[in-house]
Amino acid sequence: MTDIVIIGAGLTGLSTAYYLEQMGFFDYQIFEKESEIGGLCRSVNQDGFIFDYTGHLIHVSDENFKQFLAETISFDTLNTLHRKSRIFSNNCYSHYPFQTNLHGLPLPVIADCIEGFIKRKKIKDPQTFYQWVMKHFGSGFAHHFFIPYQQKLFCYDLKKISASWTGRFVPQTNLESIIQGALSEPDDHIGYNALFYYPQKGGINQLIHAIAQKLKNKIKTNYEVEKIDISRNIVHFSHGETVTYNKIINTIPLNNFLKKIKDKSSTNFQTQHHHLKANSVLNINIGINRPHLADYHWCYFPESRYPFYRMGFSHHFAQPMAPHNTSALYTECAYLNKRPCTTDIIKKVKNFFDLNDSEIITVQELHIPQAYVIYNFWREKYLTSLVARLAENSIYSMGRYGSWKYSSMQESVLDGKLIAEKLLHVTVNEAKEMTVSR
Ligand SMILES: Cc1cc2nc3c(=O)[nH]c(=O)nc-3n(C[C@H](O)[C@H](O)[C@H](O)COP(=O)(O)OP(=O)(O)OC[C@H]3O[C@@H](n4cnc5c(N)ncnc54)[C@H](O)[C@@H]3O)c2cc1C
Repeated sequence: MTDIVIIGAGLTGLSTAYYLEQMGFFDYQIFEKESEIGGLCRSVNQDGFIFDYTGHLIHVSDENFKQFLAETISFDTLNTLHRKSRIFSNNCYSHYPFQTNLHGLPLPVIADCIEGFIKRKKIKDPQTFYQWVMKHFGSGFAHHFFIPYQQKLFCYDLKKISASWTGRFVPQTNLESIIQGALSEPDDHIGYNALFYYPQKGGINQLIHAIAQKLKNKIKTNYEVEKIDISRNIVHFSHGETVTYNKIINTIPLNNFLKKIKDKSSTNFQTQHHHLKANSVLNINIGINRPHLADYHWCYFPESRYPFYRMGFSHHFAQPMAPHNTSALYTECAYLNKRPCTTDIIKKVKNFFDLNDSEIITVQELHIPQAYVIYNFWREKYLTSLVARLAENSIYSMGRYGSWKYSSMQESVLDGKLIAEKLLHVTVNEAKEMTVSR
């Protein structure tokens, strides 16, 4: 019997374990289906290049996360970077965010955006992302950036998703900032990701290793949860072993998790899984024998003629990501059903930078089956009660995929802290103070 079973050794699972141990609690076990820990925060070494599962940049806006980083990976091992991100549309580059950086775009595009903003409709309570864009930005911004870009990212009808995820991910603006951004040099200081951190070497996986090194309990890899018997509190693994538990902290995608619940009662979790929708991302990483392809960290591609919605250069985050005089490029293509063609993606990259075949040193294809959660109406209406019903069964579903949300690494860590404190009925600080005063 283990008091707390943590399913998944990604950032959420590991952070939870970290906080439990910080509070002096060790009656838990983490089970991970892969042979390697880290989930989406893994890094792959190939032909001298290091590739992440697309760019994984550390954005810090919370003091607890900051402290967590200081205690685990340490800021001494991180590069501090000021965002250089671009948007490529209308055959030219503009700066991110689009809404405050119209400078350099063709005049008709600028005029469209400003006119649309001035004439935007008063929509009282936007129910969909589409309405939300029309309300806050107007038809020009919608047409030239938001609709094509988000359509490409979510691969879903934008009139069928809510805007509840936008928050810090889509900075709002006003007429003064728009006009200023159209007339003057770009402002790179706006938005949640204007400043970020990245490990000086080894890729984002270094964060995972730093946390794991702090843990006393052993992480059980190659343990794939196959079935959960919630009436008898037993987790079954694919190789036949079982473990009994008091509580489960789930961090695997909620839809997959629901399918594993054996439930004879009326709550019927299994049947809910198909309402939870997420897109997939194909991440093509390319090692290129050319030192300088672009000066930005990453670039957004709203137009449909490019299969990727974003492309970036990880050696701009940390030089050792690519051998000397080469470039480590990544592209991200989202899809719902039909997986994009790798050859087409490479061809587009080659055309874009005018590359020869001989300059391609290596290609690494990484796949994220559940990448961006779709905020469909079902999610908005029923997710909270679904998660609450799981909690009634001593199952706490956390993290980007466990909670079924659009969130970053910071939230994964904060989710870990939150659930550890909730289950131990004490805050991390109180627990530490109690240890000191004992
Ligand atoms: C394309 C993309 C780009 C991103 N970029 C950034 C960024 O730049 N900055 C940022 O802060 N965040 C970024 N994120 C978000 C970040 O990746 C997540 O917030 C975080 O990594 C989620 O960690 P997690 O532990 O919750 O989930 P995961 O990393 O998915 O971990 C879940 C773990 O569960 C394991 N598992 C699955 N099924 C089972 C099973 N049956 N039994 C046992 N184990 C199982 C998996 O193998 C995995 O290790 C990005 C996400 C995506 C998709």
